[in-house]
Amino acid sequence: MANCYKPLYRKDITYYMENKNILNRIYQYICKDTGGQNESSKLIVVVRFLVLTMIVYSLISSGLCLGTSGVSGSVFCLASAALFLVIFVFSYKVRTFVSFGILNICILVWIITNINMFGWDIGVQHFIITLLIFCFFAKYKHEAAKIAYAVFLCILRLYLYHYCRNHTPAVDLSTEITYAFQIINTLAIFWSISLIAYIFSTDTQAMEGKLIEYNKQLKLQASIDPLTGLNNRRSTMDFLNRLLKSSPNQISFCLCDIDFFKRVNDTYGHDVGDVVLKKIAETFRTELPNRSFISRWGGEEFVLVFPDTNGDEANIVLESLRQKIKKIVFDGGSENFSISMTFGLVEYDFRSDLNEILKEADEKLYMGKESGRDRIIF
Ligand code: GH3
Ligand code: MG
Ligand code: MG
Repeated sequence: MANCYKPLYRKDITYYMENKNILNRIYQYICKDTGGQNESSKLIVVVRFLVLTMIVYSLISSGLCLGTSGVSGSVFCLASAALFLVIFVFSYKVRTFVSFGILNICILVWIITNINMFGWDIGVQHFIITLLIFCFFAKYKHEAAKIAYAVFLCILRLYLYHYCRNHTPAVDLSTEITYAFQIINTLAIFWSISLIAYIFSTDTQAMEGKLIEYNKQLKLQASIDPLTGLNNRRSTMDFLNRLLKSSPNQISFCLCDIDFFKRVNDTYGHDVGDVVLKKIAETFRTELPNRSFISRWGGEEFVLVFPDTNGDEANIVLESLRQKIKKIVFDGGSENFSISMTFGLVEYDFRSDLNEILKEADEKLYMGKESGRDRIIF
């Protein structure tokens, strides 16, 4: 059986790469920004693609006219192609807004002249819809001007219809050519509208995606303490309020504080103090049960919440944590040192509100400090 897979030979690959390169360069050339500030780079790309569409359209139309209706129609189409070519060249020299304006005016004049020459039946008036869509997608913030333009386009279309009913076209096209024009126009209009919608909607989708991601980042930054990566006071209050509203089972709360932390800063420096805070946060994460909520309440104070845990169970967990923390050896530069922490533990009584619970935990922490530190008061 013959092998259906045909390998690419070196010559084929070079040919393919060169072709790909040329197409890529043409595409890059069409997408070249005009560099105008506060101007969407997508807009100029759409302008150029539309102009190219109009050039191709005019050339095909010119061929069609030449075959049937004589020279005048064909010359008109060639002149249109030349005009759009000039706009294409201009789009690299003037601001995007100017190109956008010139293109709109030229297409309008071109529609009116086309209708005058070939009549209503070829369907060229549908290009007005393309202009309408293009105007609303263009990211200029002149809402009133856009609405006024839309009204103008609507009136123009009605007027052209009225005009065509009372005037015969300058060039008399055969039924077949009118039919062919209808097909070309339909294709050109569908292509133009799809192009505009595609280019601008991908822009919007990408922007929306970025915005969602940015909002997520902002939310995260607003709820996380940057030094330790723990929840901050704000997200802790949110969490506790939600927790108490959810008619919880047993909960234990703990407020804990590093002993003589000011001395650590004063003796070894603020940077070493920061290292201690980070290490303590890491120890909480690794030593406490997975469901625990851990937060930096402020300075060297932390709030620990143990859902579905009674005071005695939390006391056991905290005792193990207290021992672990005392065993950590910190590098103070000139010497190593260790620290201790004091804990105020409260079991939820199903009555107190959040402020009362926190106040009670704070009082117990204070008692622990007063009675010699490095202990759990429950
Ligand atoms: P106590 O045992 O009574 O708690 O004594 P303490 O020294 O720990 O308490 P004090 O409130 O006197 O000092 C707390 C210190 O924590 C003072 C402040 O400089 C330090 N601190 C607060 N936030 C940070 C921080 O983000 N980094 C560092 N390095 N130090 C901090
Ligand atoms: Mg302290
Ligand atoms: Mg303190």
